[in-house]
Amino acid sequence: MLDGYDIVVAGGGVAGLTAGLTAARLGRSALVLTGVVPGGLLLTIDRVDGFPGFPEGIAGYELCPSLQEQADAAGAEVVALELTSVAERNGGWQVTTDEGDVDALALIVATGARFRRLGVPGEDRLLGHGISTCASCDGPLLGGATVAVVGGGDSALQEALTLAETAAKVIVLHRGEGLDGQASYRLRVEAQPAIEIRYGTLVEEILGAERVEGVRVRGPATESATELEVAAVFPFVGLQPNSEPVSEHVGVDDRGAVRTNGGLATSADGIFAAGVVRSRAAGRAAAATGEGAAAAIAADEYLGR
Ligand SMILES: Cc1cc2nc3c(=O)[nH]c(=O)nc-3n(C[C@H](O)[C@H](O)[C@H](O)COP(=O)(O)OP(=O)(O)OC[C@H]3O[C@@H](n4cnc5c(N)ncnc54)[C@H](O)[C@@H]3O)c2cc1C
Repeated sequence: MLDGYDIVVAGGGVAGLTAGLTAARLGRSALVLTGVVPGGLLLTIDRVDGFPGFPEGIAGYELCPSLQEQADAAGAEVVALELTSVAERNGGWQVTTDEGDVDALALIVATGARFRRLGVPGEDRLLGHGISTCASCDGPLLGGATVAVVGGGDSALQEALTLAETAAKVIVLHRGEGLDGQASYRLRVEAQPAIEIRYGTLVEEILGAERVEGVRVRGPATESATELEVAAVFPFVGLQPNSEPVSEHVGVDDRGAVRTNGGLATSADGIFAAGVVRSRAAGRAAAATGEGAAAAIAADEYLGR
């Protein structure tokens, strides 16, 4: 079973893997708990944009495993276990995983975030049957179909662009009056003839018995709800931070994201946080990666010599 470590990192996304890599390079014994699926939110992204060093973008399924290899090679122990809770112990932290406990002198929380649900009728029943958050996985299976993307931020626009490569039509349903995503995505979406944007539109229900067959929406032009025929729905309406395993011990904001100071320290001694689990995170891979490195350096300084 696992022993004690200087630094335990929870999270196998770009923040966690970079934290593990950096901690190991600093000469600390480091364990990275990646959770069930290492790689995090980027794993299924066809083209990670804006990541330094890759002017043409890089696939998330290439970037994340190579980061894991690099962490391994630096001497971090990377295991597919999940952090379930923590408790103070002997001036450090007892870290409980789904397969037992491990002692850590410092802990870096980089558990990222999961997709928010729409919270409408039909969603529970049809999840995995036409409701998806992975355009690169499910887009190729939807060639020639009309599909809906819900949301108007970076993720919604990026995934709408991926879907537009194969779908006949992509309808972006956005409750706001203007798109929120980065200018580079907005311009590409607006120039893509296969994408139609419906502003001021709320999804009220996802329709279909065994598979998605449509959505019931209410928009500004219609007093009553209307039904759109779509073969799939991709909801990108925000992220929920995965802070539950530590939220009893560290300060969190009203979204449940972990609060840190400028040095990435949380309110609990010896616990640091990095990436999108953090309150006011920038939401970009480059920022999460940098925070992973900075959190490891902060934990190293906290431990001293
Ligand atoms: C659709 C979409 C497209 C995006 N495209 C881009 C892009 O092109 N460019 C860009 O810069 N950014 C992009 N982003 C943002 C980017 O994904 C995030 O900034 C980045 O993934 C954050 O990394 P992270 O390591 O903080 O968290 P995550 O990627 O969420 O990784 C968290 C990790 O923690 C693990 N975990 C969760 N709970 C536990 C637990 N209890 N114990 C152990 N491990 C746990 C998860 O399994 C996962 O491995 C995109 C995001 C989305 C949703």
